[in-house]
Amino acid sequence: MSLIKTVARVCQMTCGYRHNFYRDVLLASSYNFTRSSLSPNTIWKRNHSAIISPFEFDEVHDIHDGDRDAPLILPNNEAEFVIIGGGLMGLSLAFHLWRNLEELTPIKASKHLAPVIAVVERDPSLSKASSSLSCGGIRQQFSHPCNIKLSMKSTEYLKNIKLHLATAGQDIPDVQYNPQGYLFLATQNGADQLMTNYTTQIENGAKVMLMSQNKLKEVFPWMNVDGIELACYGLENEGWYDPWALMEALKIKLKSFGVRFVTGEVVGFKKKYASEQNPAGRVIASMPDGSRTEIAESVQGTYLPVEPRKRYVYTVHCPDGPIFDCPMVVDPSGLYIRREGFGGHYICGMSPEDDNSVDHSNLDVDYDFFHEEVWPRLAHRIPAMEKLKLKSAWAGYYDYNTFDQNGVIGKHPYYWNFSFLTGFSGHGVQMAMGAAACLAEKLVTGPGELSKEIDVTPLGFERFIINRPVVEANIV
Ligand SMILES: Cc1cc2nc3c(=O)[nH]c(=O)nc-3n(C[C@H](O)[C@H](O)[C@H](O)COP(=O)(O)OP(=O)(O)OC[C@H]3O[C@@H](n4cnc5c(N)ncnc54)[C@H](O)[C@@H]3O)c2cc1C
Repeated sequence: MSLIKTVARVCQMTCGYRHNFYRDVLLASSYNFTRSSLSPNTIWKRNHSAIISPFEFDEVHDIHDGDRDAPLILPNNEAEFVIIGGGLMGLSLAFHLWRNLEELTPIKASKHLAPVIAVVERDPSLSKASSSLSCGGIRQQFSHPCNIKLSMKSTEYLKNIKLHLATAGQDIPDVQYNPQGYLFLATQNGADQLMTNYTTQIENGAKVMLMSQNKLKEVFPWMNVDGIELACYGLENEGWYDPWALMEALKIKLKSFGVRFVTGEVVGFKKKYASEQNPAGRVIASMPDGSRTEIAESVQGTYLPVEPRKRYVYTVHCPDGPIFDCPMVVDPSGLYIRREGFGGHYICGMSPEDDNSVDHSNLDVDYDFFHEEVWPRLAHRIPAMEKLKLKSAWAGYYDYNTFDQNGVIGKHPYYWNFSFLTGFSGHGVQMAMGAAACLAEKLVTGPGELSKEIDVTPLGFERFIINRPVVEANIV
């Protein structure tokens, strides 16, 4: 069977047939959104010269009304919401879109009457997705109110995930949520900033406490507190979970909702200016890595400044290391470490000082980086770590926002049918559920209760145009 027929058959199997229009495209992938030049009326049209598709489609054509001769990636152009990228952002977005739409649908949860949501993923194994390769950490300790609230909102979902994602006939979902505070350490230079962060966190409802050097030594006697002036410890809503388990649970739930999963690579979309609004042809895209795409380029020279940046995670074993009283430690040097289980295993890492020194084109691990940069810092802060054994390591891509290392949430400023949910850099898995809930509300009903609770306006694409970065002091 030719590839084109295979693709068409897979599409039929996964998509079925429905309405003759789609409405929104959501950009929820993380990086490597293919740079391509597109014909003006193309939505997902494959550009033969530009696309690198793992599936080598012969033809993946316009899903919009128009090019009737072309094979359709979604038969009958049925999707009203098209989500680009099936990582945690895309899946969370599909979940919240459905929940919001469900409220509007007279027959609740009807697969047959509800608008169609399609999630397009080019690599369904998600083997290189940031979400699969992340550490799953979640914290309330940010400096910007928006980030604090988005993380806290996600924790609300995670704590009740069984309620949200339980599906008839399936195992009860367990995302292995492990409550454990983050411990941010500050030298004299960073103490003022830590104090300011603490104040903002408290004002926004976070449960955190400050510790002096003496208190720190008392609570964590295994730590070398030399040079530490102040520390901040999370008392609630912090820890880590398994993003893979969450994605699996989301997929099961979404399938039960009738959300369509499409294998393919999105290379562009048909732009709709605000003045062109009509019910047919809205596109929603949540694509975290849409850097320098035709989409971003078209905004008067303003790019979506999101690109893949490689980060390493090292697994070590240290029989004499702290266990039950080991928080997620974030050292002033940028080093982080947390335990992994209770058997003396830990994961640790840090961002390189100079990203230009890293080859971001592959996911090879740099072991010298561990020996030269990570281990010395580790052994300094936790002397027991002098004696550790490096067990394994992996690398993954941050969906790195080069502008201000924060997420991009909301509609495209000019193209009303395109939205972003991307660029969360090192804090995407902890914000996915909260951020997706905010975007879904805006798209389905317009600003409502959630918008009053969390104002994500500062995280809009507009900030790149007006040059107004969201300043976040607690980047890990
Ligand atoms: C080592 C590491 C540790 C991390 N630790 C944490 C942490 O502790 N806490 C935290 O909150 N965050 C952490 N992060 C960051 C977090 O993982 C990301 O911010 C988050 O996973 C981004 O989710 P996503 O769905 O946007 O991206 P992804 O999970 O990368 O999913 C995007 C998907 O889009 C697909 N795609 C891209 N372009 C296209 C296209 N054109 N057509 C179709 N599909 C496309 C890709 O194949 C990909 O599967 C970490 C990241 C790394 C690498």
